[in-house]
Amino acid sequence: MQKARSDTIRKGYQTMKSTVYFGSPRQTRLEANETLPAKLDLIMEKLQLRDRVKGELVALKMHTGNNIGYSTIHPVFVRRVVSAIREGGGKPFIVDVDWDVEGSESRGYTPETVGCPIYPLAGPADRYFYPHKRPYKSIDTWYLGGLIQDATFLVNFSHAKGHPSCSYGGGFKNLALGCMIGKTRSAMHDVCHDDRYWFSELCPDPAVREQIKAVCPHAAIVDDRKNPGELHLHIEQCNQCGRCLQVAPPGSLKIDPVNFYSFQEACAISTSITLSTFEPGKATHICLATQMTPVCDCFGFTSMPILPDAGIFGSDDLVALDQAVLDVTGRLKLIEENISTSLEVHTREGHPLRWLHGPYKDPYKVVEYGAALGLGSRDYDLVDVLPVEQITPAPMGYIKAQTN
Ligand code: SF4
Repeated sequence: MQKARSDTIRKGYQTMKSTVYFGSPRQTRLEANETLPAKLDLIMEKLQLRDRVKGELVALKMHTGNNIGYSTIHPVFVRRVVSAIREGGGKPFIVDVDWDVEGSESRGYTPETVGCPIYPLAGPADRYFYPHKRPYKSIDTWYLGGLIQDATFLVNFSHAKGHPSCSYGGGFKNLALGCMIGKTRSAMHDVCHDDRYWFSELCPDPAVREQIKAVCPHAAIVDDRKNPGELHLHIEQCNQCGRCLQVAPPGSLKIDPVNFYSFQEACAISTSITLSTFEPGKATHICLATQMTPVCDCFGFTSMPILPDAGIFGSDDLVALDQAVLDVTGRLKLIEENISTSLEVHTREGHPLRWLHGPYKDPYKVVEYGAALGLGSRDYDLVDVLPVEQITPAPMGYIKAQTN
């Protein structure tokens, strides 16, 4: 029987100031207690995770990666969270989408390494789910993974990186896509096409359509497979450079923010559905911002990092968490020499992930939509759990001898 739920979406949350705990990648000494796994422990203490999970069935939502990717959260971090949950008297299990759980042992995730079972969120056939009716554009009903909804506590442990649809994948993305079954994930990507952007009646000449396709350096415009004569825009590949608009007859093609923003609004709605199935205080969020690649971990490979490591973040407020990750990473310098030659930087305004994926893939939109839904506050205090300024500096040249 479906358990009783209360809505965690609190009106007025937007006006509160939240706390985000932060572990910097900076060290004063080459010692383990200044590294990120040790700072994760400090963050979990601040979040009082052990005290909150007694008797709870805890879903630890993370991405177990795909194929030969190696930039998802290392088992060293995962094991520490699992151990903390067990020490607090909770019953943890890791959950992810079916096609990523399958084969996750090849990327280092096994019950032996992480310390708990690893399950597909809707069962091995992706058929165990709960429907949630919430009309948004072409989506009427959202299908939430059964094991997510059956859990009584949620630890949302995400990895920050780039994303081709919205430029950033972090805390929201881990829940938004990662808690819904495949049918809903596909529908969420498709909402980008709900607002019309191609008007074939204004471009009747097939030769001009060929020119429009040919001018795009990212092969983002193709023939629509379902509708011959129509064009289809691959949102993921488009960086909004505008070259196609120079060729298309006036009014026949729109490169419009609404198509790009839809995905992020869908992500915020999806996340709100997932969080609404947990009682107030029964969800917390941790994000590891290291090895940040241009596209998400679903791609099945790890490319060079495009931003320096930013650290680890934790908060009960998901909006504040992603806002803080974006603010901290937004001050970093894009490592342009690490960007694949198939991508181009054509704007230098705003967050560096926007430079890479285009101005309409503004990574802040998801927190904007999330805050509007009452999921949290964009206003926060960033609390460094081990500020380097408070550590007595070691003398230059100091390397502690290993004692065991
Ligand atoms: S805006 Fe640029 S990247 Fe996007 S479809 Fe047009 S030419 Fe391609």
